[in-house]
Amino acid sequence: MFYFDTLYGKEILKSDYLEGVNHFFTTRDGFDFDKIGAARILTPNQTHSANVQIVGKRAEYPETDGLIISDPGDAVCLRFADCTPLMFYDSKKHVAAVSHAGWRGTASKIGVITVKKMQEFYGSVPKDIIAVIGPAISICCYEVGDDVKEKLLSTVSDKTDLLDGNRVDLKAINSRQLEETGIKKIDTCPYCTVCDNDMFFSYRKENGTNERHYALMML
Ligand SMILES: [Zn+2]
Repeated sequence: MFYFDTLYGKEILKSDYLEGVNHFFTTRDGFDFDKIGAARILTPNQTHSANVQIVGKRAEYPETDGLIISDPGDAVCLRFADCTPLMFYDSKKHVAAVSHAGWRGTASKIGVITVKKMQEFYGSVPKDIIAVIGPAISICCYEVGDDVKEKLLSTVSDKTDLLDGNRVDLKAINSRQLEETGIKKIDTCPYCTVCDNDMFFSYRKENGTNERHYALMML
């Protein structure tokens, strides 16, 4: 379940599925990330790619839309305004990840790619991974063309309850993809960045705004 909290005087959103790890989504309130005391804050240069990287010594991650961290003190932080934020945590291996799934990332299954990399590099088992799907444009407000709709639907075997006409549920499609990898614990945020635009930024509602809210995890 998602709940609002206050951190260093700013309103943030959290999931109780991730009580075991530092994480939060920022709101329109903004946030001063210097306050969290991370050794490093990794911020990839997001380009709606399906590129997921394991964080190593380097600090720069160009054309990257998912980062996986495993070192204590490291934080990963991605930016959003409508696109779907995905958080992952494996408490057994103490590995965390954040990915950025707009329609392109969702069509290329960036969430599944993130899970596969956690399996490959750290031996994570999907049933031990907790996934959290953050605030994003929701089915109420996300109308797409037939081509995009078909691309998104083709990513899952079970296609039930993901559409309403040409409106698609990006959060549910990401959730279904993750369920189909074997993840059992998935918390999906009820907030829509368009309907709940008083709390979050929306690229669509705010005519291509440059403002973003953030999804951060820290080990
Ligand atoms: Zn909405």
